[in-house]
Amino acid sequence: MGDENIKVVVRCRPLNSREIARGANRLISMVGNQTFITRPDVNDPGNANKRDGIEDVKSFTFDKSYWSFDKNDPNYATQAMLYNDLGEEFLDYAFEGYNTCIFAYGQTSAGKSYSMMGYGEDKGIMPLTCCELFNRINNNKDLELTYQVQVSYIEIYNERVRDLLNPKNKGNLKVREHPALGPYVEDLSKLIVNSFIDIEKLMDESNKVRTVAATNMNETSGRSHAVFTLLVTQKRHDTQTNMDTEKVSRISFVDLAGSERANLTGATGTRLKEGVNINKSLTTFGKVIASLAEFSVDKKKGKKEVFVPYRDSVCYFHLIYYNLGGNSKTAMIAAISPADYVETLSTLRYADATRRIKNKAVVNEDPNT
Ligand code: ADP
Ligand code: MG
Repeated sequence: MGDENIKVVVRCRPLNSREIARGANRLISMVGNQTFITRPDVNDPGNANKRDGIEDVKSFTFDKSYWSFDKNDPNYATQAMLYNDLGEEFLDYAFEGYNTCIFAYGQTSAGKSYSMMGYGEDKGIMPLTCCELFNRINNNKDLELTYQVQVSYIEIYNERVRDLLNPKNKGNLKVREHPALGPYVEDLSKLIVNSFIDIEKLMDESNKVRTVAATNMNETSGRSHAVFTLLVTQKRHDTQTNMDTEKVSRISFVDLAGSERANLTGATGTRLKEGVNINKSLTTFGKVIASLAEFSVDKKKGKKEVFVPYRDSVCYFHLIYYNLGGNSKTAMIAAISPADYVETLSTLRYADATRRIKNKAVVNEDPNT
């Protein structure tokens, strides 16, 4: 299996009430796979002469650009579309035995959790994938094939790992490093699930547990990363040869903390520490992306090694370690606001750099002895 790029899609949400209240202009447009961002003063006749050498419109090309700006628009990109394009492809990979990871990146309130988890009936890519996973398992007619599904769900907050499936654990699981297998979370609960309903119950309970940090911009969990992982084991018993084989795939969904540069003005104590840690993990993220992108390019020139700073942030990259530049089929959903120039441009640039990262995915198949 050769190297392959990380798949990157971008999704633009509707204007929110705050943006409407300030009379914000729409700065984003999409044509095909392209996303365009327009500098705000271009739309403002009063500033028409104020040119400082920056282009007025920048364009980016992604694997897909999802226009979810207006729910009443017949072209509105729905949750089902995102699932059909991306979720299904990645579920197919998992059944083939690959590790997969879909992660959402973007500033707070840009639509990360909407795309990943969804709200109410508007289920996101994560529950839609889980639902289809069990549909396929329940339709399995192959008597030699059995499945086991385990789930884990963690929150990374302030450089600490909390087990969302075991609320009694007050939240400081250790991340350890296995010399051969890489980093893992010690004592993490992994629960066996037998149906989509089992998963829905676990998600409901654990989402109530998620840290609620009251800040201006975010009422829920914008300051923590959430990682939901399914471990799917396919066991095949060949009755003719009496051989057992096993394929294990890890399917991860990562809902990252808001990517905005945490404004630390006036912050003290916990808020300050928290902000510094989020900045640290997101800076690491940016550095990892940049060095991997560079690596992918340099390899062509025959240059071998580039330092990848996974370890800069205690927890964060120990866990994402597998999915960026490693043995995984990985996709990024870049969630953007239609009306925030600085943050959206920064997200589009990260997304653009991420497209250049190459992964090496292999099927995790072992004959049991
Ligand atoms: P984040 O997780 O990035 O902080 P959310 O996913 O919670 O942001 O989205 C913020 C708000 O925008 C929510 O009220 C959500 O319902 C709405 N929203 C986000 N994305 C979309 C979309 N694609 N279509 C419609 N509404 C959306
Ligand atoms: Mg969120």
